[in-house]
Amino acid sequence: MLKRFIAMAPVPSAAHFDYLVIGGGSGGIASAKKAASFGAKVGIIESGPIGGTCVNVGCVPKKIMFSAASIKEILDHDAKADYGFSFDSPTFSWPTLKQARDAYIKRLNGIYISGLDKLGITTIRGLAKFKSATEVEVEGAGVYSAERILIACGGRPRMLGIPGQELAIDSDGFFLLEDLPKTCCVIGAGYIAVEMAGILNSLGCETTLVIRKEKVLRSFDETLSDVLTEKIKSSGIKLVTNAVPQKLYKSEDGSLAVETTAGTLDGFEIVLNAIGRIPNTDRLALDKCGVAVDGDNHVIVDEYQNTNIPSIHSIGDCCGKWLLTPVAIAAGRRLSRRLFNKETDLMLQYHNIPTVVFSHPPIGTVGYTEKEATDLYGRENLSIYKTTFTQMYFSMSERKEKTTMKLICLKSENEKVIGLHMIGLNCDEMLQGFSVAVKMGATKAEFDDTVAIHPTASEELVTLTEANLV
Ligand code: FAD
Ligand code: NDP
Repeated sequence: MLKRFIAMAPVPSAAHFDYLVIGGGSGGIASAKKAASFGAKVGIIESGPIGGTCVNVGCVPKKIMFSAASIKEILDHDAKADYGFSFDSPTFSWPTLKQARDAYIKRLNGIYISGLDKLGITTIRGLAKFKSATEVEVEGAGVYSAERILIACGGRPRMLGIPGQELAIDSDGFFLLEDLPKTCCVIGAGYIAVEMAGILNSLGCETTLVIRKEKVLRSFDETLSDVLTEKIKSSGIKLVTNAVPQKLYKSEDGSLAVETTAGTLDGFEIVLNAIGRIPNTDRLALDKCGVAVDGDNHVIVDEYQNTNIPSIHSIGDCCGKWLLTPVAIAAGRRLSRRLFNKETDLMLQYHNIPTVVFSHPPIGTVGYTEKEATDLYGRENLSIYKTTFTQMYFSMSERKEKTTMKLICLKSENEKVIGLHMIGLNCDEMLQGFSVAVKMGATKAEFDDTVAIHPTASEELVTLTEANLV
């Protein structure tokens, strides 16, 4: 009965909270719930759908599309060969998938809302703007005050900044597409560009990927960047390198053209811009509370997620460091434990954060890249093990895709593993367990001392020998 009352309670137009969270995305929800679990009176303000980027236009719908693309790859390339299946050409309905995906996300939105209600958190709908360091005005709702305020406002896609930019869609627009485009030009060389180009290509869209330099994922370990660039080239995606977009326009036949420094590309139904994200801090009237931002408008925080204003904290994408859902969640929960549960020294360590790229094939990576490790310790102080092999899965398929794995170890610390990088089928699922070992400071000898699981691809990481040294 009480729970029902809380769920139905009208939102007051003015109230005072212990903790007021701006942004009902991954980080904001996690931090709000943790604070409420310690008895704090919490309000959360959200201008869009509850769940933020990850649930609505990020990880969740993306992973569903990645899974669809992976099924299509199996049907197109693997099932029919020596695995012995026979069937006519599979058909794929994007509208069917979109409808089911949207319905799933709607269910998730409901689960998030009831999760907040159950903890007695007041959800306030509307756009928040600071009035002072302790007060926030919510458009159409009222003015709220709090002892502590959390900025967890996330970010949005960066525009191309060239004439005709409005003709391109971004990752948000990708999830609105009602059907699979016949042709698409993806601009960008990061996570979103390689993931979405891979999905579109696998599902049957003629895909062009335009990058400014020679390779994709340039900030990743060089081996991953090299291997994925080559895989993209051989996957059927047309990779256009060293091409900086200058202008977008509509041709006479209604198709889209992209003028680049390497020539004009045309005939596209869709142009998808994926060149990074910018923080939503510009809509917060930060001048009213005095919170400092850097040159890119990211909130400046210390290691405890404190801003320069004592009553205001910030986490997640709007701080510009490791734009990942679990990072926003981890920082948000730790902050609430510190603020409301007297765990005074708790903070998130921003090192050894594992991350996966749902490219085709997927990437798993944690720790230092080879370049970072070399710059820090010198190449002579590292032992680097590398292997390239064909997973047993491909022994029966028409596709013969290689997997590459690399361990970077620090000689002076008993060959402690300080970098682990892999690209190949299922590497996304292999990483989590290995990242525990890396975080705990496991050495190469401890990897070797772990009994392998056979037959798997991940066993390669515990069976590397001197023959694999590079
Ligand atoms: P968000 O989740 O963006 O939440 C911020 C919320 O604040 C939003 O709901 C917004 O509407 C609200 N808001 C903003 N300003 C205001 C205001 N003034 N008033 C009220 N509300 C406001 N990460 C992964 O770990 N794995 C993945 O596979 C992955 N895939 C991704 C795929 C795509 C296409 C994209 C775009 C991102 C992906 N990410 C992924 C990144 C992940 O989505 C983000 O890192 C994560 O959502 C950040 O959480 P956050 O709480 O900081 O911000
Ligand atoms: P990224 O930062 O990953 O990559 C953007 C890339 O676009 C840059 O690295 C740059 O590459 C290129 N670029 C930048 N400006 C331009 C320009 N003007 N013209 C052409 N190319 C340009 O951003 P994304 O948008 O891909 O993703 C945003 C963040 O979201 C990611 O950093 C990640 O943290 C998160 N995310 C995580 C996912 C996951 O966990 N699997 C999936 C999707 C997103 P270069 O310098 O080489 O040209």
